[in-house]
Amino acid sequence: MDLLPQLPLVDTFGRSHNNLRISVTDRCNIRCFYCMPAENVQFMDRVDLLTYEEIERFVRLTVPLGVNKLRLTGGEPLVRKDLAKLVAALSKIDGIEDIGLTTNGILLAEQAADLYAAGLRRLNVSLDALNAEKFKQITRREGYEKVLEGIEAAEKAGFQQIKINAVSLRGMTEDELVPFGHFARTTGHEVRFIEYMPLDADNAWEREKVLFAQEIIDIISAGIRPLVPVPNADPRAPAADYQFDDGIGRIGFIASISRPFCSQCNRFRITADGKLRNCLFSLEETDLRSLLRGEASDEVIQQAVRNSIHAKWEGHEINTARFIQPTRPMYSIGG
Ligand code: SAM
Ligand code: SF4
Repeated sequence: MDLLPQLPLVDTFGRSHNNLRISVTDRCNIRCFYCMPAENVQFMDRVDLLTYEEIERFVRLTVPLGVNKLRLTGGEPLVRKDLAKLVAALSKIDGIEDIGLTTNGILLAEQAADLYAAGLRRLNVSLDALNAEKFKQITRREGYEKVLEGIEAAEKAGFQQIKINAVSLRGMTEDELVPFGHFARTTGHEVRFIEYMPLDADNAWEREKVLFAQEIIDIISAGIRPLVPVPNADPRAPAADYQFDDGIGRIGFIASISRPFCSQCNRFRITADGKLRNCLFSLEETDLRSLLRGEASDEVIQQAVRNSIHAKWEGHEINTARFIQPTRPMYSIGG
């Protein structure tokens, strides 16, 4: 007799969770002001990071629960040694259909070919500005040319699905919008604008600093030509996808503030130090590392995942007075 399939990860709002985001480090080689503090960053001790073997075991345990999609992130995932080895191990797991990576691109030129060979196919490269000065102002570091070299190296390595993530910031990145529109049209890479979220280490987020998706649509449409919604876009995808009305060039929006997509959420995350979070904005975590390093059986670990998903709340409350910013900033959670 076949074994009964284990229950998928469905929460109390009926959302099932197939998408696991794995942070591999909290370290980073730049210092984006909306994510990290400028100085004196307290990084995790290396011994506290999940090993690649621990990550692999954890992923294997989540597949019977319905996980088939992974994304590696950080901190900056490419600063973790031998990341391609982890990609290779994860891409061999039966049931994992899709592995993505989000990177700032600084080390991509060196690693793109190895990552592709290891089985990675989906790449998001974060780049908030198409000019070196603005890049430096946002990231507090040099590196703009390296990111462009990284994107080029990724194209050469064979990556076809490269998306550019750009955080949109009022008073800072308006001038970047039309150049990014042209960039999307000439390169064929989708540019995804992400609304600035209250996950910065400096606690300086304010609603007034968010440049909203609709404003971006209006500016790009006026500066180039109209953006229209992509027909038949996946309703479960967090990004709202648009294209220019002549069909050339795609622009996406992760509009977490102006168009929250919590009701469609299918994601959960594990931090680099092995804490399970059922939401980017969770105030509570489940300590999986102690289970993975202790005597816990596979079933106990799987039950801990189920319990965490079961406890997931309806959605972030950024647009309400009840919102409490998590103590972990983005680089420590894994974006
Ligand atoms: N270091 C990699 C990178 O920058 O792509 C991966 C980790 S980073 C935390 C993942 C994504 O989160 C990036 O696209 C980054 O721009 C975005 N991000 C970081 N802090 C954010 C914030 N406060 N609001 C919105 N997006 C943010
Ligand atoms: Fe580093 Fe990514 Fe955070 Fe920028 S957004 S500081 S690149 S982790």
